[in-house]
Amino acid sequence: METTRQCILIVEDEPKLAEVLLEYLQQSGFRGHWLDNGREVIPWVRTNTPALVVLDLMLPGRDGLEVFKELRQFSAIPVIMATAKVDEIDRLMGLELGADDYVCKPYSPRELLARVRNILRRASLSQQEILSATGVETDLERMEARLDGQGLNLTPVEFRLLHQLATHPGKVFSRTQLMDCVYDDHRVVTDRAVDSHIKNLRRKMEAVQPGFEAIRSIYGVGYKFDA
Ligand code: CA
Repeated sequence: METTRQCILIVEDEPKLAEVLLEYLQQSGFRGHWLDNGREVIPWVRTNTPALVVLDLMLPGRDGLEVFKELRQFSAIPVIMATAKVDEIDRLMGLELGADDYVCKPYSPRELLARVRNILRRASLSQQEILSATGVETDLERMEARLDGQGLNLTPVEFRLLHQLATHPGKVFSRTQLMDCVYDDHRVVTDRAVDSHIKNLRRKMEAVQPGFEAIRSIYGVGYKFDA
C-alpha cells in the first residue's frame, strides 16, 4: 500500500544519480521524492515530513549545510549528507551539526540503502524496546523518568538530557547539541556545565542500578546512549 511506504527525500542536482536512487528506493519498498534545488527543501519538508532526507552538500539555489542548519531548527528528521569531497567528511564530522550519517560520492545505491535502513531502524526503536534494553523510561508529558521501574529524582535539565539521549539510542550528540535540546532560552552554557549535568545524571542512575553505563562519553565529541 502506497500510504504505508516511508518517504525518502533525495536532494540532488545530478539528475542521473537521483533517478537511479529513486528507482532503487522504489524497488526496496520506499517512496522516493526528488528535489534538485536547495531552496525547495525547507518548504517541502515542512509540508510533507519525510522519514529521512539524503542531502547533497553542493546544490544550486542554496548550500546543503545552510539547508541542514535551518532544518534542524524545527525538525529531528534523520539526515544523510552526501558530498563529493572525501576530506569534507572529516570536517563535517567535526562540526557541531549532527547529521545522522554521511556518504561520499560516488556511492552506490546499495550503500545508501544500507545506511537508510540502519538509521530508520535506529529511529524506530520504541520506548518499550529502549526500556527493555536498558530499564530507562522517560515520560515527556509528566517530566518523569524511571530506571528499572524506580522513579528518578531528576532536575528538569537532567530529565531533558536523559530523554534526548535515551530516545535516540546510538546517536552521538555533541555538548552543544545537547544544550540546544535542554535549554529553551539559548543561554550560554559551557561544555563543563554539560559534563556536570551528565555526571549528576549518571550518579542518580547508578544509585538505582549499580554499574549503569548506558550513557557513554565519546572522546572529543560528546555523549551517546547505548541501548
Ligand atoms: Ca551537487
